[in-house]
Amino acid sequence: MTEKSHSSAMRVPLLDLKPQYQAIAPRVRAVIEAVCESQQFILGPEVTTLEARIAAYSHTRHGIGVSSGTDALLLALMALDIGPGDAVITTPYTFFATAGTVARTGARPLFCDIEPETFNISAAAVRTFIERHCERRGEALVHRASGTRVKALMPVHLYGQLCPMEPLLALARESGLRVIEDAAQAIGARDAGAHQAGSFGDVGCFSFFPTKNLGAFGDAGLCVTQDEALAEHMRVLRVHGGKPKYHHAFIGGNFRIDELQAAVLNVKLDYLDDWSRRRAENARIYDEAFARAGLGANVATPTALPGFHHIYNQYVIRVRRRDQLREHLAAAGVGTEIYYPIPLHLQKCFAYLGHAEGDFPESERAAKETLALPIYPELTPEQLHYVVESIGAFYAGSAPPARG
Ligand SMILES: *Cc1c(COP(=O)(O)O)cnc(C)c1O
Repeated sequence: MTEKSHSSAMRVPLLDLKPQYQAIAPRVRAVIEAVCESQQFILGPEVTTLEARIAAYSHTRHGIGVSSGTDALLLALMALDIGPGDAVITTPYTFFATAGTVARTGARPLFCDIEPETFNISAAAVRTFIERHCERRGEALVHRASGTRVKALMPVHLYGQLCPMEPLLALARESGLRVIEDAAQAIGARDAGAHQAGSFGDVGCFSFFPTKNLGAFGDAGLCVTQDEALAEHMRVLRVHGGKPKYHHAFIGGNFRIDELQAAVLNVKLDYLDDWSRRRAENARIYDEAFARAGLGANVATPTALPGFHHIYNQYVIRVRRRDQLREHLAAAGVGTEIYYPIPLHLQKCFAYLGHAEGDFPESERAAKETLALPIYPELTPEQLHYVVESIGAFYAGSAPPARG
């Protein structure tokens, strides 16, 4: 009885950033105070430090701090000279910014479907797409239907697990494509060969949006690259393309990261591996609890590829009767989210691409079946078990979940 009332009082928000902040507040306040004292808000020493640290962390040579993950993608595309008449192959099952930035350059997003187990872009689908819908014209790979030149491949490491990059990199090499990794959700993720997210492509793009594993106190992002010339080009485009100042050989933008954000991130970076480890531990607790709950075909837990280091920015399950389950969980005090309810090829703004329902069946199915559960580091095992019990109760068709 006491156990039961304990359960019904339980609240499990999808994300609560306060306990993380409370644990590091003195250090964060001190660096914010130091920036205030310095009154150097733009491209100061904290930015330089962060760029060097994230580059090293990601096993790359150069880091360019930017204003958001979205701007990291946009800057990478601009630096690779992608624009009108060009096209970029990517996934329709991702956050909007992935294809949104491609379209903003004037280039055309070309979608390929995902692998159902990982939700990441399917290398087999990319290969088929290139074979069936593209052709070589001299140096160029041309998308036949639109006449655009396919310049790049933009895989997304969704939910914090890397796409297996070998087959994608091989395709890019064969077809002369540049590779931009949307690693917004994946900082610190590794494959079985211990290669870091962001280190595979021409440019790796990170987001420090507060909900990511490494979150700023506002918007921030960063590009990493091994290529010195590309790094320098991104640095120039980050400040309107002016070099020297007021001399513009290129049209860039204001893509700068704030010194205050860099200062916060330099503190938080010290804790990132520990936080990601605790997320993975929470995922293991969920996996085991779901296995014990015996929910059969009602719930499929996330697939972690063997040997891969998954950082669990999200813990996403596939479920039956998803929308009803979500309501049930909300009533039980459990926060959830749907990432993402409408695949990008079915978004109104991309109607000009001419897609219809059925074009990317795995992305469409994922959009209907997936549900993200709370996974942040400070959750207690009791909270995690409560989530699983609440889901069990839903499929048992019973009233409020009881513990035990
Ligand atoms: C968060 C995210 C972005 C955009 O990052 P912002 O910092 O919010 O601009 C891009 N792609 C993916 C996959 C993301 O999850």
